[in-house]
Amino acid sequence: MNILLSNDDGWRADGLRALAEGLAGLGTLTVVAPDRNRSGASNSLTLESPLRIVEQHERWYAVNGTPTDCVHLAISGLLPEQQQLVVAGINDGANLGDDVLYSGTVAAAMEGRLLGLPSIAFSLVSGGERHFETAARVARELVERGLRTPLPPATLLNVNVPDLPYESLAGVRATRLGVRHRSERMVAARDPRGRRIYWVGAPGAGQDAGPGTDFEAVEQGFVSVTPLQIDLTLHAALAELGGWLRATDV
Ligand code: MN
Repeated sequence: MNILLSNDDGWRADGLRALAEGLAGLGTLTVVAPDRNRSGASNSLTLESPLRIVEQHERWYAVNGTPTDCVHLAISGLLPEQQQLVVAGINDGANLGDDVLYSGTVAAAMEGRLLGLPSIAFSLVSGGERHFETAARVARELVERGLRTPLPPATLLNVNVPDLPYESLAGVRATRLGVRHRSERMVAARDPRGRRIYWVGAPGAGQDAGPGTDFEAVEQGFVSVTPLQIDLTLHAALAELGGWLRATDV
């Protein structure tokens, strides 16, 4: 069993080390991760500049690119061995609802899925204490479960773990993505030379955090496991769109 690990918080991140420790012994682990924090990188690929890969220690590579670059390079040539699973994380922060569209952690898993491998993204809904060891134990259990009952190749799971001691977790729930309120307004300030600078505002609170959502599960102390698909087509709108296009024939 060859397992590829990546993240978006960078190769030095505590969450990545916790993940590697949690999965130790389940197979041959190889880490290919960004050389710095690339949170929010989504599914971006670096196309206009060369990528450099530095082996920081054995089977632990840092890349001057995005999480997607890392998984893409790892599977499409860097690693001679066929990988069987991609595991991303453990992200320092939640990836709930709309977050998955921006998340580099989910993107790393998604790249694995696009390249034909079952993939899982793990995030810690950090509330301050950062119980990465809890999320690492959950990761081990889910990966072990996946070894006993293999995940279908099309599987992409988004896992969020409450920031609690392991014994305090309420259980594990299959969930759907909720929806956040729109994010906070951007923050304007001035740099030391008086020039305008801006920060993207904080994410909004849960808007659809209702029954069955990932928000609800973690709020109630459950590990949230959401199956994701890559096809963004709004299938329910296809027929109506066809009519609209005919009616507005040019
Ligand atoms: Mn991150």
